[in-house]
Amino acid sequence: MKRITIIVPCYNEEEVLDFFYEEVTKYLDPKYDFKLLFVNDGSKDKTLEVINNLRKKDDRIKYISFSRNFGKEAAMLAGLQGAKELNSDACIMLDADLQDPPSLIPEMLTLYEAGYKHIYAKHRTRVGEPKLKTFFALLFYKVYAMLTKDKNLSKGARDFCLMDKAVIDAFLSIKDYKRFTKGISSWVGFEKKCLEFDYVPRKAGKTKWSFLKLFKYAWMGIRQFSHVYKIIPKLLIVLAVGLLGFDTIYSILNDTFSYRILIYEVLFVFIFIALDAIMKMLYEIRDQGLNRPIYIIEDSNIND
Ligand code: UDP
Ligand code: MG
Repeated sequence: MKRITIIVPCYNEEEVLDFFYEEVTKYLDPKYDFKLLFVNDGSKDKTLEVINNLRKKDDRIKYISFSRNFGKEAAMLAGLQGAKELNSDACIMLDADLQDPPSLIPEMLTLYEAGYKHIYAKHRTRVGEPKLKTFFALLFYKVYAMLTKDKNLSKGARDFCLMDKAVIDAFLSIKDYKRFTKGISSWVGFEKKCLEFDYVPRKAGKTKWSFLKLFKYAWMGIRQFSHVYKIIPKLLIVLAVGLLGFDTIYSILNDTFSYRILIYEVLFVFIFIALDAIMKMLYEIRDQGLNRPIYIIEDSNIND
């Protein structure tokens, strides 16, 4: 019997967890050995109490509880580590607020049985979502693709997905302190299968993501998967060379040309070139520090 762990990050979700449990358990086919792993991300409300009450009636329920709020990325990582420790063949990750419909679980499992290792869900349309959020989300995907040169980040992809154990291991091998799951998902490779669904509002409770928090998260994602700050010295070089050329031609035409000024101007460009080199070195140190694996093996017969 295949072991499937359902990972649910929870931060202040006391209002919705009972609904979530009722809904998700409708789709847990008994031909699998399911575990429901709730990760309580330092909730200040009665989330942990609700989880403990659910545990009393269902021994498939597992939980991990953080000492404080570490953020959804940390909760997802702990969930993946937990799924590995539970010897799961695969895991399914979804939000507690029922914005990721548990009714997709059977279809995910069918695709998993058909051989897909990473099945993710995304919004078909964004109807119902606040317009401003949609605008900035679409802008983010454009800027992200441009700066990271990663065109594989799927627009509107949720963190809602099924990963088989090879994908779980690949995710766990990424030790980035600042984690951006969507970027990691694309980075680790593996053929992905996408399921589409329409936007569903939160069943109860409030979103934990303010506009500022989302913006900072998106910017962190771009920084983690690009060398975005390298643009600054490069722009300065282009600007300085342009102004220098203009000034030289202008002074020749007006008979005010001076070698001394030209030397100062060229030195100015050299400072920006040096800044560019320093930035490059800093990124090399950063990339080494991230300690990402050099490759991810999907298949091999080395140990046969
Ligand atoms: N979440 C979490 N830690 C946080 C913020 C959110 O574990 O610091 C969980 C939250 O309980 C929910 C999921 O992440 O299960 C998505 O959060 P939310 O619904 O607030 O985000 P939105 O859907 O509004 O983007
Ligand atoms: Mg939500």
